[in-house]
Amino acid sequence: MKPTAFDYLAPGTVGEAVDALAAGAQVLAGGQSLLLEMHLQRVHPNLVADINHIPGLDALTVADGTLTVGALVRHKTFESPGAVPGPLGDLFGRAVANIAHPPIRARGTMVGSLAWAHPASEWCALAVALDAVVELRSTRGTREVPAGDYFLGPFRTAREPDELLTAVRYPLLAPDTGVAFTEHRRTGFSFAQVAVGAALTIRDGVITEARIGLANCADRPLRAHAAERALVGSGPSSPVFARAGETAAEQDAAPVPEPYADVDYRRHVIAVLVARTLREAAPV
Ligand SMILES: Cc1cc2nc3c(=O)[nH]c(=O)nc-3n(C[C@H](O)[C@H](O)[C@H](O)COP(=O)(O)OP(=O)(O)OC[C@H]3O[C@@H](n4cnc5c(N)ncnc54)[C@H](O)[C@@H]3O)c2cc1C
Repeated sequence: MKPTAFDYLAPGTVGEAVDALAAGAQVLAGGQSLLLEMHLQRVHPNLVADINHIPGLDALTVADGTLTVGALVRHKTFESPGAVPGPLGDLFGRAVANIAHPPIRARGTMVGSLAWAHPASEWCALAVALDAVVELRSTRGTREVPAGDYFLGPFRTAREPDELLTAVRYPLLAPDTGVAFTEHRRTGFSFAQVAVGAALTIRDGVITEARIGLANCADRPLRAHAAERALVGSGPSSPVFARAGETAAEQDAAPVPEPYADVDYRRHVIAVLVARTLREAAPV
């Protein structure tokens, strides 16, 4: 199928872009989800605002312990070792390898994934787990929304239709944080059936901080708070991680049935993957 007719605009500044959004435009970033939806005629924008020509939106900066990722930073950026310092860069490097395949990673953007809000998105799960904050700009001004309040359901977020997502910010992880990311999917090109990202801090043999992000374990990305509470204060061990996996599957996750996976199977996969991810983040 072909997209229905639309007008195309290439704003040169963020101000021009938000003016276009106020006039009803839809943003084109990497185009790896939007163009597919337009070709399938599931979305019919009358006006497309291509933000790829706006200088500065491709910036990736670290300052005062915070990583800021601009709206045009492509997935593939995070494949480069050292693009992001420390354990946060290591975690992003492990996660990005699971996103689609190289041509899509060359064009698609991290911020576009947060705007699209697919429940199986790796970036969305990590944004929630890592206490990221998204920056939204419109003709009314700029506001920031914590990732934990931003995702409202499948493809639904707190972003208003006239708001441009200009950046996402992450606190850097402490240098002694252990990280891991694992994913289960039906084929190499499939979205995750379940994906888990974890960051663990262990001091004097005790887990002092745990962050677990779950993709495709509910109608939106989740942080596994109950499993994290079960970990903090314990020593790292296989039985502790197995119990945390079961807690995540039973108390944190709310999986929906899929054509190839009923809810019981999905809870089983969540328990196994959470335990496996924790073991990788803190080898025992
Ligand atoms: C075959 C295939 C496999 C894929 N596999 C995965 C996968 O495993 N994991 C995964 O996470 N993704 C996957 N994707 C999606 C891919 O990662 C997209 O790149 C991503 O979802 C959207 O990023 P984009 O920059 O391409 O956004 P676009 O396609 O340009 O836009 C997507 C949506 O977000 C809006 N939008 C984009 N940027 C902004 C912004 N800055 N402000 C406001 N609105 C904005 C657009 O208007 C549109 O509605 C896959 C895609 C394909 C085609």
